[in-house]
Amino acid sequence: MIARVTLDLALGKEFDYVIPAELAAQVEVGTRVKAPFAHRQVLGCVTALLETSPHPHLKPLLKVIGRQSHVSPTLLRLARWMGAYYCCAPEVALRTVLPEAVRKEKEGWREQLFVRALPQHGPGPKLSRRQEEILALARARAETPLQELLRVSGASGQTVRRLEDKGLLAIAPRISERDPYAGEIILPTQQLAMNADQARALAEISAALRGGGPHKAFLLHGVTGSGKTEVYLQAIALALEQGKGAIVLVPEISLTPQTVERFKARFSSGPQQTLVAVLHSHLSSGERHDEWHKIRQGRARIAIGARSAVFAPVERLGLIIVDEEHENSYKQEEAPRYHARDVAVVRAQMEQAVVVLGSATPSLESFYNAQKGKYRLLEMPARADDKKMPIVRVVDMRQVARHEKKSPIFSPLLKEAILQRLERKEQTILFLNRRGYATSLQCELCGYVAECPDCSVSLTYHRQEQKLKCHICGHEEAAPLVCPQAKCRNPAIRYSGLGTERVESTLLALFPRARIRRMDSDTLKRKEDYRRVLGDVRTGKTDILIGTQMIAKGLHFPNVTLVGIIHADLGLHLPDFRGSERTFQLLTQVAGRAGRGDVEGEVLVQAFTPFHPAIQYARRHDFHGFYEEEMEFRRQLNYPPLSRIALLLLRGRNEEKVKFSADYLKRELEKKTAGMADLAIKGPAAAPLARTKTEYRFQIMLLTRQMSRLSLRLAELAAGLTLPEEVKMTVDIDPVNLM
Ligand code: ADP
Ligand code: ZN
Repeated sequence: MIARVTLDLALGKEFDYVIPAELAAQVEVGTRVKAPFAHRQVLGCVTALLETSPHPHLKPLLKVIGRQSHVSPTLLRLARWMGAYYCCAPEVALRTVLPEAVRKEKEGWREQLFVRALPQHGPGPKLSRRQEEILALARARAETPLQELLRVSGASGQTVRRLEDKGLLAIAPRISERDPYAGEIILPTQQLAMNADQARALAEISAALRGGGPHKAFLLHGVTGSGKTEVYLQAIALALEQGKGAIVLVPEISLTPQTVERFKARFSSGPQQTLVAVLHSHLSSGERHDEWHKIRQGRARIAIGARSAVFAPVERLGLIIVDEEHENSYKQEEAPRYHARDVAVVRAQMEQAVVVLGSATPSLESFYNAQKGKYRLLEMPARADDKKMPIVRVVDMRQVARHEKKSPIFSPLLKEAILQRLERKEQTILFLNRRGYATSLQCELCGYVAECPDCSVSLTYHRQEQKLKCHICGHEEAAPLVCPQAKCRNPAIRYSGLGTERVESTLLALFPRARIRRMDSDTLKRKEDYRRVLGDVRTGKTDILIGTQMIAKGLHFPNVTLVGIIHADLGLHLPDFRGSERTFQLLTQVAGRAGRGDVEGEVLVQAFTPFHPAIQYARRHDFHGFYEEEMEFRRQLNYPPLSRIALLLLRGRNEEKVKFSADYLKRELEKKTAGMADLAIKGPAAAPLARTKTEYRFQIMLLTRQMSRLSLRLAELAAGLTLPEEVKMTVDIDPVNLM
């Protein structure tokens, strides 16, 4: 027999090996093996078994790694699909399916010495008081790690060893499993009685789980606080009842202990009791190894985690849940540049599992799919616990700017509202999503923002050249000296750089006695920080919490009655056609933090373009209205979800070479894609992040409805393309970030 193997090397192809007789019984598709390559020994994964090979002189496999076949046939198929669709080498796709922690040659179990008291027959040997104490301690426990016994008793290793010599204790190594949540006390929870909307949603999911019903993929659109999580929990219980397992994906940022706890608590006891394995990037490699094996061995039937948990080796997978499906963090920004939501849908299809995408603000892609009937739409339009949606008011900052000399951070209205909360001992959340490099040109008096005439994305202001540039198509124009609006002509038109730090210091000056905390990636270096800051808000030790998008998600603080959004249109003026969608999502999510307790919530939205649809629809909690209007814009320019995008990025140290390569690439693309009628090629243009410290970047954007077809051609093209040594190309299919 011959094994075809994808080696863990960036080679972009597979190699055939003879399977020696003594390994024949252990080698299957998906088995991890060690094989000779050049003068080395390399690990890899068997992807096919063949009778014959077209290559002569095959070498034999050396060894099988791990006891169980590691990659299931479905995951192997999924990896192949990813490789083809996202234009990446098979080993890169495979590597993603199997985490680093379980790919190693040496099994990653932690062994520890354990002490066990041995049964004693007849009168024992004479012992010192110390020895008696230790023996009593050991007898009181079934089996204790040696380290722990030493710590508790304060004895030395030698003393314990002496007891072993006397035949009273046995000390032996054993696997000791790591549990990243060992310190948590988790109280079991019971199913809640569902309201009518929840029951209706669950009934449809339940029918699909039983194999009835026409749909397998659902979009659960429920407003913030509508009780989506309860629907997830009960759907999982139904899957478990049928002997099937489940995967729950949540964005990394909302993978807080509270979220994990809600799942662990429900399944920690009762008839559907199972372990819940957690997979995310903050685990140590050893923890990840153990969590992965809990799933592989079937002891954990539920896996919860961020993006990469979509590959969790759950057998008889019945259900995949993607919470906050609109979140950009589901997209991996390095090869393979996959989108976990889309991979979840494909995996569910391959495994005939049910998939539920949930959000208060679905992505346009998913809602469009629901409209077309690809997904079944489930709606939950009201909060589960009868709390009202907060009142949202928009503050026109142009008015405020006109009254004061330079534009202030806080409008009088917001200042007053904060003061009121301080007096009433209620809490406030202030939100500002400051983004780094992308700078637009905005007039603070009239709200004017320069846009590309062809692409309708904001033009980027290049201060040194005094130019405005479109980073999609390359359009350029001179930067205006005064606001171009005939009625305005403001000479102070410029970008205002404002960040959370300045908000904090200004606020401190305004309210010196308030207890203020800031939460963004600058202030949170360790994961305990996150927990501590949120703990202080929960226990009322913080009056005002300032933060970036980090605080937009999933927080549930009953005493927060005011949410202030400092500069709501900040995200609207990025060179990205999704700016409006992002802003709508973010505003809706942040607003959802207010009024979760008994006092009705208030949201104040400060904006320089207060009548922008993203702001107005968010104010009215009107997703459908926003969807209709935004789709009209996408339709006109043939942007997603009406088409799909492939973004080709070229980068290198030498600007001329990169630019030249981009022009060459465009010509080759035109040749290669001849006959693809609906394909549009935009660019090359300087990428929005046009220059990093060491590199120049140019990009080409391709739009088509037939992405699978385009992916194949791009892969062919990339294989035959000769670029200068120092120019690198990356292909991003369905990018979420146009920079
Ligand atoms: P979502 O995930 O949609 O934002 P959650 O699942 O967090 O909403 O639910 C919001 C609140 O409503 C939670 O406190 C939850 O316990 C409560 N809740 C959910 N379903 C019900 C129900 N059927 N009856 C009463 N309270 C509920
Ligand atoms: Zn343009």
